Amino acid sequence: MSADIHFIDLKAQKERLGDRIEQAIGRVLAHGQFIMGPEVDALEERLAAFCGARFAISCASGTDALLLVLMAEGIGPGDAVFVPSFTFVATAEAPAILGATPVFVDVHPDTFTLDVSSLRAAIKDVQRLDLRPRAIIPVDLFGQPADYAAIDAVAAEDGLFVLADAAQSFGGAVGERRVGTFGKATATSFFPSKPLGCYGDGGAVFTNDAALATRVRSLRMHGRGSDKYDNLHVGINGRLDTLQAAILLEKLTIFEEELAARTRIAEQYRVSLPAAVRCQKLQDGVRSAWAQFTVVAENRASLADACRKSGVPTAIYYPRPLHLQPAYACCPTSPGGCPVAERLATRVISLPMHPYLDEAVQSHIIEAVSNAIV
Ligand SMILES: *Cc1c(COP(=O)(O)O)cnc(C)c1O
Repeated sequence: MSADIHFIDLKAQKERLGDRIEQAIGRVLAHGQFIMGPEVDALEERLAAFCGARFAISCASGTDALLLVLMAEGIGPGDAVFVPSFTFVATAEAPAILGATPVFVDVHPDTFTLDVSSLRAAIKDVQRLDLRPRAIIPVDLFGQPADYAAIDAVAAEDGLFVLADAAQSFGGAVGERRVGTFGKATATSFFPSKPLGCYGDGGAVFTNDAALATRVRSLRMHGRGSDKYDNLHVGINGRLDTLQAAILLEKLTIFEEELAARTRIAEQYRVSLPAAVRCQKLQDGVRSAWAQFTVVAENRASLADACRKSGVPTAIYYPRPLHLQPAYACCPTSPGGCPVAERLATRVISLPMHPYLDEAVQSHIIEAVSNAIV
């Protein structure tokens, strides 16, 4: 069995879809509209309907989705953009590319998402640095929506806008409200290993703000106006390929079912793993998209080693917080620093998580972890 355990299993998903992806690709090859073909519009409509956002604008990657919103909001030099330190680099990269200053905020030790008291302290502190506080980018780490109720309140007090980094959480929810409807805008990614992934790079922006949607649509096509050779803004080439849209349309039809499977598998881990590995805590009423199932283990190296010997692949997201990365070490942190991010970076470990993990395989994984802990 051990040779068969996948950390993420895209092959099983492909089998589940039968020949539908090949047929979808075949249709695009036949009509030949590889850029902004009809599948792109169809996908945007379905994505908006899926999450309940007024507008969905597809784009070339999750990184571009973040970048496009910040560009549309005119973020640039002198602006402070608050981001958690414990995240994938793209969250900080997007403001940095525009010449703005990412300010690193700590995360909560149990939920692993943005810590609101660290955020408040950071916003107060940047005035001292001669930076204008402009935006907050909470990250829905491992699929769990950040604490938007508390973050929105802070943003409203200080006149900042919230851009949700939902690269890992599309499909998640808080109560009845789905990811895609939090903050002023939401950025997601369709990188292959994300909960809803294509077969290459892809992403999308969601918003209820018509003016912002129009601006983002323009910016992803070189800042175009009424036609191709009318350039209103300095934009980028940030479109989603028609082929990827066609693939996503097929995958979206089974996405709800996949989310339910992820929830079931996560629940099984949560009730069966030994107490010595601490699972990511979910906030009340939150539904995670379970991009990753991540635990905190005091002796991570020996756990990873024992798992490997039992044929169980593991991964570490993320081994180094961003404020300690060479490229970002010059950026400010919240006054207390980011000690929780530093501690988590040395202790977190992620277990196999995908909708096609069957019960027998999951039992084997749980047994391998249990044996490693005692
Ligand atoms: C994957 C990811 C991104 C970037 O998405 P790409 O599509 O790879 O550009 C941004 N933020 C987070 C938190 C991510 O996990």
